[in-house]
Amino acid sequence: MVKRGIIIGRFQPPHRGHVEVFKQILREVDELIVVVGSAQESHTLENPFTAGERVLMISKALAEARVDLSRVHIIPIPDVNNNAIWVSHVTSLSPPFEIVYSGNPLVRRLFKEAGFETKTPPMFKRKEYWGTEIRDRMIRGKRWEELVPEAVLEVMREIKAVERLKDLSKTDYLLR
Ligand code: ATP
Ligand code: MG
Repeated sequence: MVKRGIIIGRFQPPHRGHVEVFKQILREVDELIVVVGSAQESHTLENPFTAGERVLMISKALAEARVDLSRVHIIPIPDVNNNAIWVSHVTSLSPPFEIVYSGNPLVRRLFKEAGFETKTPPMFKRKEYWGTEIRDRMIRGKRWEELVPEAVLEVMREIKAVERLKDLSKTDYLLR
């Protein structure tokens, strides 16, 4: 039987830490499901990129890392904003899986209660490989490029990501 693991994130944007953890999980399972969560969100400071842009960045980053893409399924899933039904929402949209990888205690709790095996994956250079830090550096004009894979950087350039983030950080409040 094919053993599948799942990891859920917003990937705003995917960074080098994500790629490391994907590779790590693929040593333990036959196939990996990467859920692009909060799929309905885009064009906000917390969630600047669309689900499609995030899928593109993840698949190109995996190809660059020479990961066999036939072993990875990348699926966007929107929020339901209801913890009690969230696991069935995810399973209704995902390929079947047995092991849930998450650093988030609430995610682990919800899947554990539903009978899934859960594991806490290791963190890689978390102070830098961290979405919030990357978005912050992009807005402030600081160096962020080395925190994401080259392939992600290429997509970011294509979609003019820095320009989008800087625009999103502006306000129409009257400055006094
Ligand atoms: P944000 O600050 O926007 O939440 P993030 O870096 O935490 O960004 P997520 O999309 O929340 O990115 O990450 C999804 C999952 O990927 C996390 O729950 C965690 O399990 C894993 N992850 C995130 N950063 C790292 C990292 N540096 N090393 C290993 N795994 C990571
Ligand atoms: Mg996070």
